[in-house]
Amino acid sequence: MKCIILLASPGAGKGTASDYIENKYGYKHISSGSLLRNEALVNEEIKSLIDNGKFVSDELVMDVLKRNINSDNIILDGIPRNLNQAKILDQFLKENNIDLDKVIFIDIDKEIAAKRVINRLTCDKCKRVYNKELIDSKECMICGGNLITREDDTKEVFENRYDTYLKETKPLVDYYKDKLVKIYNNDTLESLYDNLDKEMR
Ligand SMILES: [Zn+2]
Repeated sequence: MKCIILLASPGAGKGTASDYIENKYGYKHISSGSLLRNEALVNEEIKSLIDNGKFVSDELVMDVLKRNINSDNIILDGIPRNLNQAKILDQFLKENNIDLDKVIFIDIDKEIAAKRVINRLTCDKCKRVYNKELIDSKECMICGGNLITREDDTKEVFENRYDTYLKETKPLVDYYKDKLVKIYNNDTLESLYDNLDKEMR
């Protein structure tokens, strides 16, 4: 069993890259967001934290992650988000003989990332993401759902998240330097996929 970690700033395309690796290479995509949303369906403690906009501790996040790991190869998107989570994950991988295959760092210029977030349209049904500048339709091409701008896709929220990323997540680039591969996502989707293919070969 193998584990890949994706590290990236907000707006860098972690979700897109993870979906691609899941579909093409059969890794199970585990994102911090969907992990906690799914857990909230069956776990009152998590549900109440999320419903009240409260902070979910590193220990709790990592407990939920551990319970969702079976024998599938996995790609982690949004976990670990800080050094504390990285250390808990290290310990868990070691104890369970899981191989940390690589850490993919998706690098992107901050201005480009900000623009992508602000131009983002999200399908209210299947959650697929589109770029306002590249689509005329107000309907999702996959499921016909409505394309909406999410409340948190603003310049202000982006700046806050970017600051948190610099403070808490970016230091992991150095922490994982032995396993790190770096790819750029300043261009098209095709070039992102090409770069991922090169690393997955
Ligand atoms: Zn849709």
